[in-house]
Amino acid sequence: MQNFLQQDIKFLPGVGPARGDLLNKEINVNTFEDLIYHFPYRYIDKSKFYKVNEINPDLPFIQIRGTIKGYASLGGGRKKRLVASFGDETGNIELIWFKGAKWIPENFPPGKEVVVFGKPTVFSKKINIVHPEMEDPAKLKTVKSSLQAVYSTTERMKSNYLTSKAISKLQSTLIQMLPANFNETLPAWLLKKLNFVNLDTALKQIHFPNNTNDYKRAELRLKFEELFYIQLNILQKKSLRKNEFKGNVFSRVGENLNNFYQEKLPFELTNAQKRVLKEIRYDLGSGKQMNRLLQGDVGSGKTLVALMSMLIALDNDFQTCLMAPTEILATQHFNSLSKFMEGLDINIELLTGSTKKAARVRIHESLEDGTLHMLVGTHALLEDVVQFKNLGLVIIDEQHRFGVAQRAKLWKKSKVLPHVLVMTATPIPRTLAMTLYGDLDISVIDELPPGRKPIITKHSFDSKRLHMFGFLKQEIKKGRQIYIVYPLIQESEKMDYKDLEDGYERISRAFPIPEYQVSVVHGKMKSEEKAISMKHFVEGRTHIMVATTVIEVGVDVPNATTMVIESAERFGLSQLHQLRGRVGRGADQSYCILMTGYKLSDDGRKRIETMVRTTDGFEIAEVDMKLRGPGDIEGTQQSGVPFNLKIANLAKDQQILQLARDIAEKILEEDPHLTDEKNFVFAKHVRKGSPQKISWDNIS
Ligand code: ADP
Ligand code: MG
Repeated sequence: MQNFLQQDIKFLPGVGPARGDLLNKEINVNTFEDLIYHFPYRYIDKSKFYKVNEINPDLPFIQIRGTIKGYASLGGGRKKRLVASFGDETGNIELIWFKGAKWIPENFPPGKEVVVFGKPTVFSKKINIVHPEMEDPAKLKTVKSSLQAVYSTTERMKSNYLTSKAISKLQSTLIQMLPANFNETLPAWLLKKLNFVNLDTALKQIHFPNNTNDYKRAELRLKFEELFYIQLNILQKKSLRKNEFKGNVFSRVGENLNNFYQEKLPFELTNAQKRVLKEIRYDLGSGKQMNRLLQGDVGSGKTLVALMSMLIALDNDFQTCLMAPTEILATQHFNSLSKFMEGLDINIELLTGSTKKAARVRIHESLEDGTLHMLVGTHALLEDVVQFKNLGLVIIDEQHRFGVAQRAKLWKKSKVLPHVLVMTATPIPRTLAMTLYGDLDISVIDELPPGRKPIITKHSFDSKRLHMFGFLKQEIKKGRQIYIVYPLIQESEKMDYKDLEDGYERISRAFPIPEYQVSVVHGKMKSEEKAISMKHFVEGRTHIMVATTVIEVGVDVPNATTMVIESAERFGLSQLHQLRGRVGRGADQSYCILMTGYKLSDDGRKRIETMVRTTDGFEIAEVDMKLRGPGDIEGTQQSGVPFNLKIANLAKDQQILQLARDIAEKILEEDPHLTDEKNFVFAKHVRKGSPQKISWDNIS
């Protein structure tokens, strides 16, 4: 059976070398198995034939039986098209093809009966169907089904006649060839418990459903299986690792933490911070290696939690390091940690790309002889020359900015595996976190420090820019500072977007020197120039910071109270949320102004509305995932979602995912190595849940 499915796709009757090649290259279908797991993305209801006089543009994909009355070639250039008049005894409509239609008149000559599939639309007050699918009613389908599956194809496939219909035919051929005793991928006891259909039934029904109900059952089983094996895989690795690796035990809460807590902490911890610290302390004392993801919205006080965890490590005579994705951020962390610890007998250093040679050498030495307690830095920490005497805890800020391989390097900096705390201010929906970081324990700070005034967010239009400038002048008069953020510099001129250079000019005219001072920071500047510009703003010497998204992460200027985002419709939701998080850090009322043109796409409008409606990062992340699909969630592109989900959808299938995870957890609790006879099937298939391309071993 396994061998049967592993055969090269070109050997399937109807494929051959040329089509096989196309299937490989275009949709990554290499084997029989790949094809059968190439699922439809929707279905056409074939349970009914419509009459022409019943058709209206509100109908979905439908089918009509009738005859072609005649063909005509109309228009020229880009408007060149083939138009067929088609109808039944109740009336006529037009069928239209803009390209690839040469073979249509040959195959479907006027007068011959034909079945047409497509979505009715209205153009010039006439009902028509553009690029319909055509079928000869005499050629009966080999596998009967009332819901016709529609498969994704590419332009190249279509121009080589590998249409959705052709794929359906191949699926039909393949399903009829399947061996009788089909190999199950879930054990009988689980199928029974969940009342799931067998795999062979599920595969038949997903491609050729008898009815909606059967299709739904097939889909549920296949979605469950897909998510279940991912969870089983992650959770098994997590449980094996927990048992295998001993962590350093940080049992002492000593002087450093106590001194800090009693003498230095300038405010009460929030309840969320207390809860998270308790979780971390439990991990650090457990004798197992900590692998924890700390999620918390911008400004929720993660840095403080990081610092207190570092102090616990120090109390147990271990060194710690904190790695941030940019020099600006690393410097800021270094400054705020140093300030918090003023007067305590703790050595802390900053290591970045611009650290001078002499300082660098001193840092390397003091790390190795153990006199340096804490190191804050950028990627520079990853260089091989950076070696610790006894690194006990690694903290990584803004984790998605780092590649997986880079993170893995940090773990190797010490003889013993250090504890790891990953902090991210990009809230990730629960389902995505369970999948992407399913082997990390997750802590969430879901509460902001008291006294913060919620940021007021407004949507404004480009035509009202002068009005907006007036508002900014009032804020500046009150002594506040302003960010104005643009999408990437130097966009294509044709696009209707204001890039930063135009914007900067306009702002310079509206806010003339010497009354107003303006800083600029963008990606094309040298890092020294950026740093100087930033510094001027941080020190309050400039009123306005004009920037591209380089300021997105972490920058902390409490006196900045207004964030203006130009061409806001071009930003993703979580990016907008990150940017907004730059203000609202002080006691004053803060504002976020989203500037757009009048024309907005549906998604663009939803993003702006969401931003105006809520400041809750998790709610925003959920909306973001629904709008864009999990693969595009901000922050996962760079590390890549390592799962190519074929049927499940993390945005929609939260309940199935939870069920899969609960069941996987229970199975592993009783049988971590999957050696029980009743779990043999799992042991055999657990690798199916392995991530592609990226190795999970490197993540944690
Ligand atoms: P994050 O890293 O989560 O964005 P920070 O740790 O930078 O947040 O905290 C944001 C600001 O809030 C900092 O100025 C910090 O000193 C302050 N802060 C943190 N925790 C508290 C608290 N419990 N009460 C009052 N202010 C706090
Ligand atoms: Mg921070």
